[in-house]
Amino acid sequence: MKLQAFLSSRVVTPEGTRPAAVLVEGETIRAVVPLDQVPANAAIHDFGDAAILPGLVDSHVHINDPGRAEWEGFDTATRAAAAGGYTFVVDMPLNCLPATTTVASLEAKRAAAHGRCRVDWAAWGGVVADNQSEIEALAAAGVLGFKCFLIHPGIDGFTMVTEQQLRAALPAVARTGLPLLVHAELAGPIDAATEILAEADWRCYSTYLQSRPEEAELAAIRLLLSLCREYDFRLHIVHLSASSVLPELSAARSEGLAVSVETCPHYLHLTSDAIANGATTHKCAPPIRSRENCEKLWQGLRDGVIDFVVTDHSPCLPAMKRLDEGNFRTAWGGISSLSVALPVMWTEASRRGFSLSDIARWMAEGPARLAGAQKHKGQITPGFDADFVIFDPESEFVVTEERLHYRHPLSPYLGEQLRVIVKATYLRGEPVFVAGKFPAEAVGREFRPRPREGGSKSA
Ligand SMILES: [Zn+2]
Repeated sequence: MKLQAFLSSRVVTPEGTRPAAVLVEGETIRAVVPLDQVPANAAIHDFGDAAILPGLVDSHVHINDPGRAEWEGFDTATRAAAAGGYTFVVDMPLNCLPATTTVASLEAKRAAAHGRCRVDWAAWGGVVADNQSEIEALAAAGVLGFKCFLIHPGIDGFTMVTEQQLRAALPAVARTGLPLLVHAELAGPIDAATEILAEADWRCYSTYLQSRPEEAELAAIRLLLSLCREYDFRLHIVHLSASSVLPELSAARSEGLAVSVETCPHYLHLTSDAIANGATTHKCAPPIRSRENCEKLWQGLRDGVIDFVVTDHSPCLPAMKRLDEGNFRTAWGGISSLSVALPVMWTEASRRGFSLSDIARWMAEGPARLAGAQKHKGQITPGFDADFVIFDPESEFVVTEERLHYRHPLSPYLGEQLRVIVKATYLRGEPVFVAGKFPAEAVGREFRPRPREGGSKSA
């Protein structure tokens, strides 16, 4: 079997960052050895002082395929992922048609993905108003967990769940041992705020921000924590934006509840005071909040209350952003960032004194654990897939449309100078992105959980 050695003065492993050679046999990491112990028969890739990190893992991506592939699609989403240093993405069950809420729809997704992926992928299943009886079959068929909405998701084809419908689903979810990912905003506080804003100027970002108050997240998370106590399932809060919830999440951890939390690069980099009127590229839900809130989210990461960072890559057709009218009420909410999430994060993290190890924990190891891939993805450790991202941590670039690589180059980051140019991405030992090009065929495949690895309650 082909033996390769990946050399660098900065190899980021769970034990720390050091000069090392990562030995790869076939698709798998065999050993991490000192630089003077590389076997003579190994093909050598010497990256000098460029850092080698585990391939990034994004457990929150909307690929929109099948059914809305004109919004994105497996080919363009995984191309952008490879360019951004990601080697494994997990697709959300909505925005595609059919939504991934039955075994038949999961099979339709597999057919859509076949032969079109540049990185590995897997699927979340949906928990919707009426599919409680499908949940365990979906788990057996290979979804990595489930996603639901406590508020209307803003798109047809995927229904929200009421508390009652959620209660009907939770015993089945708990039996699968898989996590339930929840969009945690409740409609009550949002409807009340929006009613008052009926006559407000919806070109102003502040109007949109007022319409989605932190109380909506707080109320939803309180409900979820109480359901978690009652039904004993693995709860995961997606895209936390409201920092005011952090103390309650911290207390829930101390109590021993199986709850995990993610946030996104846009909440950690963009702030409401800097969003121009009409700049609907910045619209997402929950919303980007104040500078002070942003700093508190960083503190949440520092304290470990927030476990990791994923993109919530959520594309749409350009017209849906309604940039001509700039109306935050009617524009699509979603930010695409697979190709620039690492630069956004390293730009912010490096100036706050965080290390490459923190990036590896937040953007590879943590999401891999949620996805049940913690023994295969997200670490440079013997026995794991030979997935790497290689970059010079001191390099900088300006975000242009050409660097985005996803289908429609919409981005709130265009024109920004960011730190880290991804030099190369390797998937199971093969280069999938090198110096701006995509050398390999679409060699990505579905990651399927192995028997006996699921069922862990550790979030
Ligand atoms: Zn999402």
